[in-house]
Amino acid sequence: MSSPDDVVGGVSPADTAGEHSVNIPETADPYSEPMSVRHLIAEQVLIEGVLQPAHLEITDEGIIHRIEKIAPGTAAHRAAVCRSSDVGGGDGLKVLKPRMMVLPGVVDSHVHINEPGRTSWEGFATGTMAAALGGVTTVVDMPLNSIPSTVTVEALEIKRSVARSQAYVDIGFWGGIVPGNTDQLAPLWDEGVFGFKCFLLDSGVEEFPPVNPAQLREAMTEVARFDGLVIVHAEDARTIDTATQSTARTGSVTRYADWAATRPPEAETEAIRGLLEAVRETGCRTHILHLASAAALDLIREAKDEGLPLTVETCPHYLCFEAERIPDGAAEFKCCPPIRDAGNRDALWQGLQEGLIDVIVSDHSPSTAEEKYRGAPDLSRAWGGISGLQVGFAAVASEARRRGVGIEDVSRWMSGGTAALVGLDDRGEIAVGRRADFLFYDPAEAHVVSASGLAHKNPVSAYEGHEISGTVVGSVLAGTELFTALDSSSPLAPVGDLIMRPGAAASVGGLEQKAAAGPVSRS
Ligand SMILES: [Zn+2]
Repeated sequence: MSSPDDVVGGVSPADTAGEHSVNIPETADPYSEPMSVRHLIAEQVLIEGVLQPAHLEITDEGIIHRIEKIAPGTAAHRAAVCRSSDVGGGDGLKVLKPRMMVLPGVVDSHVHINEPGRTSWEGFATGTMAAALGGVTTVVDMPLNSIPSTVTVEALEIKRSVARSQAYVDIGFWGGIVPGNTDQLAPLWDEGVFGFKCFLLDSGVEEFPPVNPAQLREAMTEVARFDGLVIVHAEDARTIDTATQSTARTGSVTRYADWAATRPPEAETEAIRGLLEAVRETGCRTHILHLASAAALDLIREAKDEGLPLTVETCPHYLCFEAERIPDGAAEFKCCPPIRDAGNRDALWQGLQEGLIDVIVSDHSPSTAEEKYRGAPDLSRAWGGISGLQVGFAAVASEARRRGVGIEDVSRWMSGGTAALVGLDDRGEIAVGRRADFLFYDPAEAHVVSASGLAHKNPVSAYEGHEISGTVVGSVLAGTELFTALDSSSPLAPVGDLIMRPGAAASVGGLEQKAAAGPVSRS
């Protein structure tokens, strides 16, 4: 991790050399970093898609109320002036070293927390701690793998009551579509879920069954009625059954590419083809989850050209790994749909740059080690899900840099784009009137991931041993510093809020704050 002077509350002598030499008081105790950031001064702040020097002023409510662009090379001087005046002197002034970047906090709209019901797999406290440490300041929790699934208003209330005291970052919730719950969709929408997830094939947990084409259309027709959003796990069961039979062996499937062949690219293409028909028929806003196969990009291009209300996501593991290089029996990499080959990976990056894929999300879907290594080294019985919440941003940023793709694009895919997907127009960008949700990124610091050092509950991760250039060294949620690499004992505190869909007018249940946008009070 960082040396103590990488993120500075005071300004080191090296920064003050030169024409703007000012007598700057040393910060006596580097651990007296402000918990509340009211003035943030840095040479590289991502504003309007461009990294530039700026001084941000933040209200007590954690909103950016002023952005002053400053001349390059003057952040240290500005900080000194600020400190010696009554404007920003005292508490709340944070100054970053010149190489540090201030980026909007990541909004990760695809996270499985699993609590209650499978809390041994992941819980709100550990999951959102991992988020905070990875620069993710907002997560939206998937409706399945917890018990109950979030398919009724009552289940949503249970989730919220469990999450309320354990939110280290902001948490919102997706609802779910299962056969027979169409009458729950409008009430869930009114209660503030961000949209509705469904599966077109077995979800992996029995309490969240898939929908057939008729049930899908029924749900989409209902969701289109109130202009909601349906998000879909798009793989085709029949294609997978056929592929599984034709690749069936007497022995176990230990080679990753062999297992991946049982869920071939055509399974995604087929499912997406059918889904697009339903979008066309119902007009329902639809989002394709975790696209792994670039073979579907032509269909997606046609659908977007046609004007269908369609968005698409992919995940860090599809952008960072390739099937050929995954060791035999490495269940940490098992996910559905599977990681595919190197050419596919290149094509996904191309799809992002062309705007065919809109956003990147973690699909953090952990389990216990027991579930993950069930049947090992046979991959067919292992839990399919990758634990990558804490690593996702840095891993994608590292891979992007290797490919000559800018951090501005990465931020747009992982913060601005995802915030827009779920309609959270109060975050996702650094702009006046938006929340002061930031991550601090040191592009010069490389690290090797150790799963045991990650905060999520079970120390299993596909990123174990993965080399990443660039490190998240701090994060700020609504002006409150969540952590800083300055101080590894800095108190992560559950200062996150439960959030609801902007515009939701909760009519029932235990939410204290109804209507309007934004945080639901935790107190
Ligand atoms: Zn998922």
